[in-house]
Amino acid sequence: MKFTVAIDGPAAAGKGTISKAIAEEFGFQHLDTGLLYRAVGRRALDGVPADIAAATLRLRDIARTDLRTPEVAEAASKAAANPAVRSALVSFQVDFARREGGAVLDGRDIGTVICPNAEVKLFVTASAEARAHRRWLELKEAGLDISEAEVLENVRTRDQRDAERDAAPMVAAEDAVLLDTSTMDVKTATEAAFEVVRVGLAKRQ
Ligand code: C5P
Repeated sequence: MKFTVAIDGPAAAGKGTISKAIAEEFGFQHLDTGLLYRAVGRRALDGVPADIAAATLRLRDIARTDLRTPEVAEAASKAAANPAVRSALVSFQVDFARREGGAVLDGRDIGTVICPNAEVKLFVTASAEARAHRRWLELKEAGLDISEAEVLENVRTRDQRDAERDAAPMVAAEDAVLLDTSTMDVKTATEAAFEVVRVGLAKRQ
C-alpha cells in the first residue's frame, strides 16, 4: 500500500511528535525532512557551499548528533531558501513518500511541493510563545544555556524567513487540515491527528 501523510508547519509546533506518533500507530515510516536541511546547514557552517552539500548529502550527515542546535537551525533555514539546495533534496523525499507500507513526512513544503497528492495533509501550528516555550524546555533538557526570550526571537526570525522565501515557502496547502496545538497536550494533539489519518485511510478503501 502507498499512503502518504504530509505534515507541515512552523518551528516547534509539534510536527515531530505528531509524525512519530502517527508512524507508530499506523506502522508507517517517518522522515523528518528538517534533518536534511539541518545536515546541509551543518556542512555549510563547516565551510562547504550549501548547494554542494545538498547535492552530495549522505546518510551519515543526517545521522549526526549535533543537528538540533539553534545555530544549525538558523544555517538550515538560510540554506533552505536556496532553490538549488531544495531541488537537490526533492527526489529523496518523493521516493520516501511513495514507498510501500505508508510514509509520514514532516517539514514546510510537503503538502504543497513534495507531495501535492498526499492522501492526508496536516498543517500543525501554535502561537509563537507556546512554540518557543516548548523548544526552550527541550534545549534546556539537552543542556543548552539559552534564554526563553532568545528562543522566541530565533523562532520568529526563522518562521519569517521560511514563510517569505520565494522557493517553496512555508504555507498551508489549500486542502490541509489545520491543527492548532497552542492549548493542547501531546495526547490530545496526537489523537486529533490520528482521527484525520483514519478518515484518510477510510476514504481510500
Ligand atoms: O523542521 P526543522 O526546524 O528541523 O527545520 C529546519 C529548517 O529547515 C527550517 O527552518 C526550514 O528553513 C528548513 N526546512 C524546509 N523545508 C522542509 C523542512 C525544513 O525549508 N521541508
